[in-house]
Amino acid sequence: MPNKTLSGSCLCGNVTYKVDLPDPPEVNFCYCGHCRKSSASLFDAYVIIPKTAMTIEKGEKMLTTHSIKGDSGYPVKRIFCKECGTRLYGTCDNPEFAKMFDGFGALTMGVGTLDIPVKEMDGWKKAEEYYKDQKVLIKLN
Ligand SMILES: [Zn+2]
Ligand SMILES: [Zn+2]
Repeated sequence: MPNKTLSGSCLCGNVTYKVDLPDPPEVNFCYCGHCRKSSASLFDAYVIIPKTAMTIEKGEKMLTTHSIKGDSGYPVKRIFCKECGTRLYGTCDNPEFAKMFDGFGALTMGVGTLDIPVKEMDGWKKAEEYYKDQKVLIKLN
């Protein structure tokens, strides 16, 4: 699959990054209680990528980590900008996560922090089927 390098940043701009994404990427939507709280939204939208695909370019010292036990029983870590609270990525200590991408390990990157026109996301794939059981919990009219 061809890859594309994109840039992203937190709300205040102190933290910037570059990320190598498949073109088009597959976006996951998680409706679990932790994702709803941490995103302050009805769901979290993120891509699962190799740890090596994301490079913090600026503001590494501005990042802080929140850790909580996830559904798998392993700590799930969410990495934020200390200044503006934007969550840039997450990791999980689940060994299954560490094995992904030929042992490079995986992280989840929130697609909302990318500095690209929203229109560019139109052709992206949705991995919603994984989360359909969670989604039926939320019915908005
Ligand atoms: Zn910030
Ligand atoms: Zn979740």
